[in-house]
Amino acid sequence: MNEKSVKILITGLVQGVGFRPFVFRIATRFGLTGWVQNTNENVKIKVTGSDHNINSFITSLGEDAPQAALIENISVTDTETEYFAEFIILESHNVSDEITEISPDIAVCDECLLDIEREGNRKDYAFVNCTNCGPRFTIIEDLPYDRARTTMKSFEMCPVCRHEYETITDRRFHAQPVACNDCGPQYELNINGKAVSNDIKNILDHVSGYIKKGGIVLLKGLGGMHLACDAFNAKAVDKLRYLKRRDGKPFAVMFRDIDSLKQYAEITTIEEKSLLSWKRPIVLLGKKRRTVRPILPDNLTSGLNLVGVMLPYMPFHYMLFQRLETDAIVLTSGNFSNEPILIDNGEATAKFSSITDAIVLHNREIFNRTDDSVVRIIDGKERILRRSRGYAPAPVRTSMNMDGIVAFGAELTNCFCLGKGEKAFLSQHIGDLQSVEATLFYEKSIAQFIKLFRIKPSLLATDMHPDYISTRTGLDFGTFPIVMVQHHHAHIASCMTEHRLDEKVIGVAFDGTGYGTDGNIWGSEFFICDLNDFKRITHFNYIPLPGGDSATEEPWRIAVSWLYRIYGREFLKLDLPLLYKIEGEKVEMILKMIERKINCPLTSGAGRLFDAVASLLDIVHVATFQAEGPMRLESLVQNDIPESYSFSRGETIGFDGTIREIISDILNNVDKVTIATKLHNTIILTIFDTVSAIRSTEGINKVVLSGGVFQNKYLLTGTTELLRKSSFEVYSHALVPTNDGGIALGQLAVASKRRELKCV
Ligand code: ZN
Ligand code: ZN
Ligand code: FE
Repeated sequence: MNEKSVKILITGLVQGVGFRPFVFRIATRFGLTGWVQNTNENVKIKVTGSDHNINSFITSLGEDAPQAALIENISVTDTETEYFAEFIILESHNVSDEITEISPDIAVCDECLLDIEREGNRKDYAFVNCTNCGPRFTIIEDLPYDRARTTMKSFEMCPVCRHEYETITDRRFHAQPVACNDCGPQYELNINGKAVSNDIKNILDHVSGYIKKGGIVLLKGLGGMHLACDAFNAKAVDKLRYLKRRDGKPFAVMFRDIDSLKQYAEITTIEEKSLLSWKRPIVLLGKKRRTVRPILPDNLTSGLNLVGVMLPYMPFHYMLFQRLETDAIVLTSGNFSNEPILIDNGEATAKFSSITDAIVLHNREIFNRTDDSVVRIIDGKERILRRSRGYAPAPVRTSMNMDGIVAFGAELTNCFCLGKGEKAFLSQHIGDLQSVEATLFYEKSIAQFIKLFRIKPSLLATDMHPDYISTRTGLDFGTFPIVMVQHHHAHIASCMTEHRLDEKVIGVAFDGTGYGTDGNIWGSEFFICDLNDFKRITHFNYIPLPGGDSATEEPWRIAVSWLYRIYGREFLKLDLPLLYKIEGEKVEMILKMIERKINCPLTSGAGRLFDAVASLLDIVHVATFQAEGPMRLESLVQNDIPESYSFSRGETIGFDGTIREIISDILNNVDKVTIATKLHNTIILTIFDTVSAIRSTEGINKVVLSGGVFQNKYLLTGTTELLRKSSFEVYSHALVPTNDGGIALGQLAVASKRRELKCV
């Protein structure tokens, strides 16, 4: 028999995801002998067998790997033939201070769900997991990944679990969080601040009972706590909003299963794939307009036609739905508005005992807090809008030297980012750095990432905004060189890095706000830029923003600013709904601020134009959540309206004509759907027109789109299609948020580039 030996090196996310048992199984299947070994840098394999079997083995490595594994590279080298008696898994071996990667948390697998049904030590056990599923990042305190360095350390394995843990062929071989009824974590029902039960059936009965009666329950989950109620009970939803301190945001909903979900939401095969993936993100879907079932109440989605839905991902969710009659429950982050999601048992009972019907806790500590991730399918691709559970802390793979760089991110929707070799470890969603709790979470997480990923900081990157908490955290961080990156340049650099672009491109950065180099508030930037620097070619006309940042919460102020710009005080004579809704005194105050230039910074933010129109259309005068105006306008858009408004392109881009025509449409009772769609079409044409002009003078064909505005499906799809028709190469975000959650990656890339060019 002609046997040979090969050595195989595999890099990527291959640890903590059941990779070695998988290698063992396929090696045995193909009759190969040899060994597999984890090191902290990669997985090493040596196999001996026939050429044919070795080839089949290598193919299978790539094709049949466990769902959460992410193979970056497989390298195969022939070695001297060596004969082994069998195939074995060798002890792990640490070769250096390098780390591989930490797996994100993985939704419970089908086999584990069967264990819950079966007689045995995991019957009805809600913490069942195996090497293919279960908690990872949320329980990891340090590396290398083994039980002693997770929050499972306080649970000593029983003989049955230990046997499975030590048996190579077992599905739980080296599954660090392995546990059962006899040895693992337990749930606890807490009512009025008192623990009343540890019996899971009893707990589930209570919880389903409360939900059925329209009650609200706080549930400790994988990466944090959720508030839950019946998604079809409008009263309960209202109560929940009130309890969260008037949180106006749309709530996410968990459906029983994919079939029930399809009754209420429009869904494509790509959306279905995201929903069912082991990452189990919240997917933004269009609500079905017509359904035989009761419709999802309007107050659930704050009146938007988009709904954020997800499927069960913890054993507890499945067990709860077995007892629930409703097909869907609200599952929104357990916190008060603007605070991070709760993870601490004591804090949960202290804050929520008196305002919820019950609290379900468990004694598996959450070490790394994660929120549910949010994605949206646009142009056939999954776009991550909030990157947390299931996605973090997997790195973004780049082709630049990112080593030792710490990027602090933006102020709202913050994520930070750390460089290690060519990998960029983008943190989980931290949130808005506007509460003490969020800031503490931010600082703690940075320290934790530095420790986990063995980062030796040598260069820092922040936004240019002097008042961002993130900027100040960076400035106070230590005596390292610091690169301050313009907000919109960071947006474009982030998208470039995701696509490994390192050249001159046309960058289009549209968002709400960002500190500009002229001291104004930017947000509609057309750049010629590379990773090192940018040239601002043009932007939307500046408009005074009366009251500065607080005006973003009151879109009517921006509407007044636009009206005044175009009509002077004459606009007060127009028959506009805005002038009935807002007291004359308040309007007068804003006019005085504009006329006397008191606290009226200038803004070119694209989001502000949408805000102004949302108020003119009597849709949002005072926002109850971030980007409410733009989201409501998008919600109105219809695909079959081709018209648009005029705009002007001189040194800057002007919308005076747009606003005039909109006012005329309003006064002529043109419906809101038409006006909103025409506005969107106008913005798409503005981008196309401007980018085309830049191409004709600069000869650059690559267009990079970034910024929160491109979360808008109609805008991103429309812009991309129109540009592609003119043979532009168009790049937009998928793996990294296009909103400020992606800023830190761009900061990291700019700092890396400047270091390479020896500018820092
Ligand atoms: Zn499993
Ligand atoms: Zn056990
Ligand atoms: Fe931004």
